Amino acid sequence: MKIYIGDLDEVVRAVELESTSQTLDLEEYTPYRGKVTVHGGINKIGREVYLRVRVSGHALATCDRCLEPFERTFAEDCLWIFTPEPELLEQEQEDVYLLAPGQTEIDVAREVREALILMLPIKMLCSEECKGLCPHCGANLNYETCTCHIEEIDPRWAKLAKFRGVQG
Ligand SMILES: [Zn+2]
Ligand SMILES: [Zn+2]
Repeated sequence: MKIYIGDLDEVVRAVELESTSQTLDLEEYTPYRGKVTVHGGINKIGREVYLRVRVSGHALATCDRCLEPFERTFAEDCLWIFTPEPELLEQEQEDVYLLAPGQTEIDVAREVREALILMLPIKMLCSEECKGLCPHCGANLNYETCTCHIEEIDPRWAKLAKFRGVQG
């Protein structure tokens, strides 16, 4: 994911990069599978290079609540600043990276990889409204209803039902 920065000026130039979850080494610990894209613009103000991009990756995940597989594209806007002045690294609030003297190319593979990992939610849900599985019978409550909640009202009924079962 390399960008030539040798002839940049204040005019914003388009950035269109493409990679894959495999190339970016994301497949072992994340649900990303397939295309990763970086779209946005780049320019140079003073000695600093500003890269404003939308990073997106396609994921094949498993819902933590209902255990069903689902596909989703995760995306987020990022601003990365590249500077040849080390002092700026401490001052700036945004993501700032150091440029070597005379550096004419930047590789953003590492930044893109990190951004994709950070934008993943802690809980992976197929939808915010996912009803999950019934803890008793395992029914997927998004597709079906079960009668387990009736037994929950009074556990004595469940015991009685069991007793009757034994008696035949
Ligand atoms: Zn779900
Ligand atoms: Zn149930």
